[in-house]
Amino acid sequence: MRSTVVTFPSGRTSGRSRIAGVVPVGDRHGLAVAETPFHPLDHTWPDQPADRGTIAGMPVLDCVTGALSSSGEAFVGGDIPVRRGAEGWEWLVLHVTSEPLPVGAEVELAVDAGFRAGLSAGHTACHLAALALNAALADRWRKEPALDGLGRPDFDQAAITSSRIVPYGSVDVYRLGKSLRKKGFPAEGLDPAQVARRVNEQLAAWVAAGAPVAIDVPGPELTARRTWRCSLPEGEASIPCGGTHVRGTGELGRIEVSLTLEEAALTMRTTCA
Ligand SMILES: [Zn+2]
Repeated sequence: MRSTVVTFPSGRTSGRSRIAGVVPVGDRHGLAVAETPFHPLDHTWPDQPADRGTIAGMPVLDCVTGALSSSGEAFVGGDIPVRRGAEGWEWLVLHVTSEPLPVGAEVELAVDAGFRAGLSAGHTACHLAALALNAALADRWRKEPALDGLGRPDFDQAAITSSRIVPYGSVDVYRLGKSLRKKGFPAEGLDPAQVARRVNEQLAAWVAAGAPVAIDVPGPELTARRTWRCSLPEGEASIPCGGTHVRGTGELGRIEVSLTLEEAALTMRTTCA
């Protein structure tokens, strides 16, 4: 089996392909095809959930990442012993079903386009919220940290511990501990409500700007190093990203965040309509 070719980066939600192989996923069957519109959960950074839909008319119960070693040994999801895209491995989108299909069978693949649309909106909103948070926290830094695509200190990259995309939203968790302080970000006196207000003002301006969103796709395979780009009034922002997105900030209507600070964790909940 060769690495799966994926069409979801361009926004596709349907396709036709042939069964390339079947990998056991528990007591279910992970069907691999040559080319798919399905976005699987990534095993290294599981931010965007798996697409829903059907393969050959059967419900896709889950969609996960598979990896095939050079000796032909197959691993699934969290059991994959190497990082996303490691050399010498074939990377598979596995459509998990209750029944297997024969290798070579031609199948129709249909993604639930409504569920995907919600995740694409939520994922774009998530990236914009991260950039707006960087801007809102920029003047707190005491050292010169790595900068984001808009030239602001990249708080998001320095502090994020998890990111979960949901339909029309996301939940991002940042750790404000000792290691962030060493990087030059003291958290004393941080007022989450005040920061959220600044983030929301920035997001409203970006939505109003109707900024176009694009994904750079350097190769057709699942683990190609794709990049999200958004042409904002301040400049072009770019973030490495394997997920799906809307085509412009104008599609999002309104993006809002709320911030909560508990122990040393700052949680940003983003919603968009
Ligand atoms: Zn992303």
